[in-house]
Amino acid sequence: MFIEFNSANRKAGWIEVICGSMFSGKTEELIRRMRRAQIANQRVEIFKPGLDKRYAINEIVSHNQNTIPSMPVHDSQEVLQRVGSVQVVGIDEAQFFDDGIVTVAEELANRGIRVIVAGLDMDFRGNPFGPMPQLLAVAEFVTKVHAICQVCGSLANYSYRHSNDGSTVLLGEKDVYEPRCRTCFLEGEQAKPHLPVMPAREEEDQ
Ligand code: ZN
Repeated sequence: MFIEFNSANRKAGWIEVICGSMFSGKTEELIRRMRRAQIANQRVEIFKPGLDKRYAINEIVSHNQNTIPSMPVHDSQEVLQRVGSVQVVGIDEAQFFDDGIVTVAEELANRGIRVIVAGLDMDFRGNPFGPMPQLLAVAEFVTKVHAICQVCGSLANYSYRHSNDGSTVLLGEKDVYEPRCRTCFLEGEQAKPHLPVMPAREEEDQ
């Protein structure tokens, strides 16, 4: 389990990244850390991309219904515009942000803010997701959390999608996605009919 290091005498901020597949507990871990910061009387703020309207507008809702207030923003620059006088900034669903979120996270950390980023490290195809690889590279601390494979019970690293809808941004529920280990993910992918799911894919194949 992640233990906050003693930063009482430091002025510098830093970046933490919590990553993993769907249903791996990323948001729970983000909320846990934010709550602990609040217990330590630190001012905290959470941002999330505005497109995540699954459950509620002004709060983060994780799959187990833990909630914490948060502010939806349209892009990474809006985080900088809206951030108040806080010691800790949380960023949820970071994979959906534009690439500018990397510079924003660094700018906040350079100001002395602790930045905690949570996001999917891979999309449903198993490819690195949006700005997550860059965030992982610049972070001081990285925590990869795992779900349980719904097929075999092993640790799950992948977000397997049953649907053949090619859109990468398909906000998920349990009937569309399930966590799978590498072996079961590959078996599922190989069993899918090979439909041309995305225009970008078709271009690559030509
Ligand atoms: Zn498995």
